[in-house]
Amino acid sequence: MVGQDWKRIVIKVGSALIAPEGKGTSTRYLLAIAQFISECKQQQIDVVLVSSGSVAAGRSAIPFSHQPLPINVKQAMAAVGQTRMMAVWSQLLDCPCAQILLTHDDLRDRKRYLNIDNTLRTLLSHGVLPVVNENDTVATKELKVGDNDNLAAMVATVVEADALIICSDVDGLYTANPRTDSNAQFIPVVPLITAEIFAMAGGSHHHIGTGGMLTKIQAAAKATAQGIDTLIINGQKAESFVGLLHRQPVGTLFKAQAETLSAKKHWLLHSSKASAEIVLDAGAAKAVLNQGASLLAKGVSGIQGDFDKGDAVWLVNTDGVRLAKGVSQYSAPELEKIKGIHSQEIAVVLGYCPSEVAVHRDDLVLLSPEKLSTDQQR
Ligand code: GLU
Repeated sequence: MVGQDWKRIVIKVGSALIAPEGKGTSTRYLLAIAQFISECKQQQIDVVLVSSGSVAAGRSAIPFSHQPLPINVKQAMAAVGQTRMMAVWSQLLDCPCAQILLTHDDLRDRKRYLNIDNTLRTLLSHGVLPVVNENDTVATKELKVGDNDNLAAMVATVVEADALIICSDVDGLYTANPRTDSNAQFIPVVPLITAEIFAMAGGSHHHIGTGGMLTKIQAAAKATAQGIDTLIINGQKAESFVGLLHRQPVGTLFKAQAETLSAKKHWLLHSSKASAEIVLDAGAAKAVLNQGASLLAKGVSGIQGDFDKGDAVWLVNTDGVRLAKGVSQYSAPELEKIKGIHSQEIAVVLGYCPSEVAVHRDDLVLLSPEKLSTDQQR
């Protein structure tokens, strides 16, 4: 796995591994996963953990025998179970763990998305393990992603992970359900997710978690379309993790699609509205265009129009040629005050410094050369 040059991975661990009996948390499978996470971190690989299990872990505290569970009971169980699940991870890992609870609404809203992105990035840069789950206690059906496989794919997109590893209780994808069909063939590699692949997935087969193979394929489709390799592995087998660390093929690999814009950049380029402009001095224009750099306040020579923090803006050179589109970390009035100054002085001038950069390179999409030359003619 390390041999594949993955620098940042998202690992999704399902309820069946966290609470195998469906009653409370158990370290039975989590020990090997925690060791794997520690080993990745040792190797300077950023890890984000998406952990299910809040409802399953809280079940024993709120006895309730009727199925399906009413929403209020589920939410109460999640409130109890979330802290229990976090406690288990904190015990097993020697790095600090941070709890991030999200709903679909948080990811749809660009400003909240940006805040999540910033928080995750800050945590990773400090060696903290973000542990993400859906905010089951407050989210109702309409606000939810609904399953942690898809949530993990979204998180992988947010942090621009190189790989998404979905830990399941089966070895990977089979042509049919191996539990019910003895002719089911294992599929080690899926170059492209087609309707035929979806058809192999069937429905959920587990009573503890929410997802089944179908939500895993949906997640793989989301992630691979954003250029993220996705693996479904058997998280109940310690050998899976040993294999990954020894660069052996493990589970089913859904290959990342080449030539994709990240969802964020796709959103930025195609869905965001931008009218205002940030004017870059020559040095900043060169750094942004040729070196993949973020835009620093120091490289800003002017601002045209008004915008708020989190808004999309055009990045133009001093001739007014549009070079890129990006999300500003500062409002126009703030940027007006800090333009041309060093990042360390931002706090002195503004009294606060929410970001070291004006536009982060991960929130910036360069315009293609054709687009550039068209714009140049205008
Ligand atoms: N968020 C749910 C929980 O923690 C699980 C969702 C899932 O299993 O996909 O209990």
